[in-house]
Amino acid sequence: MTKNLLFAVFLFISCTLFSQADWKKHKISCPVCEQNNKLFFPSTVNAAFGKESHYQYVIFPYNDYRSVFSCKNCRFSVLMEDFIKMDSVVVEKLKKINYAGYGVGKYRNYSQINITERLMMAELTYKELNKDQEFWCMFYRICGFHFMKEGYEFDAREYYQKALNIAIELLHNRFYGEGREKEFMFIMGAMYNQLDEADSAYKYIREANLRNYAGNSSIDENPASKERFLTHILGQFSAHLRKQKVERMKNK
Ligand SMILES: [Zn+2]
Repeated sequence: MTKNLLFAVFLFISCTLFSQADWKKHKISCPVCEQNNKLFFPSTVNAAFGKESHYQYVIFPYNDYRSVFSCKNCRFSVLMEDFIKMDSVVVEKLKKINYAGYGVGKYRNYSQINITERLMMAELTYKELNKDQEFWCMFYRICGFHFMKEGYEFDAREYYQKALNIAIELLHNRFYGEGREKEFMFIMGAMYNQLDEADSAYKYIREANLRNYAGNSSIDENPASKERFLTHILGQFSAHLRKQKVERMKNK
């Protein structure tokens, strides 16, 4: 999971053309019930994924409502890259998930089910898939981003808080945190910003900006690219927070 996401990050770095992603339908069979589904895949990487998702550290394609797949037959729902063949033991476990109450009604395509509903279904799926805390930190950021965008502020704030708590835990975990302080401090600053805790947001974004991303050899294939990526976003984010601070002072 993480490696694939990092791959998206590297694409971002190497992409010079800021174009809109073009999503195309493909017929894919469900890994749980084998039903054929028409699912959207991006045929290009949208590097211009916007400051709104930048500042929540939600990376393309997960800032797009089409990136969470849901089977029209059994309702199996996951982030798009996890809609893949799985071990039969896992499949049996997934068949038992009760998605009742979600995705109700007739729809031609999964994208007609609201993204927030698909994310709630995906959360049920991932609870059965032994995901680590780094995954959950990312998943809750994605949830926070989409719930906020859809106007569910209360739920969004709950997700931001969960992502923040995990980021703090990861920062202090030797396996995850060593060499990656810049990234986890960035996430903390981003989540504090979403939770309207301006001083903490500013503190961690500034602190992250001063760090160098060394990476973790078991996770990072190209820490230099990640360092460039984080520095690029953090520079913009710092300026954004400074501007916010000036605005607040003016309104006092
Ligand atoms: Zn299915």
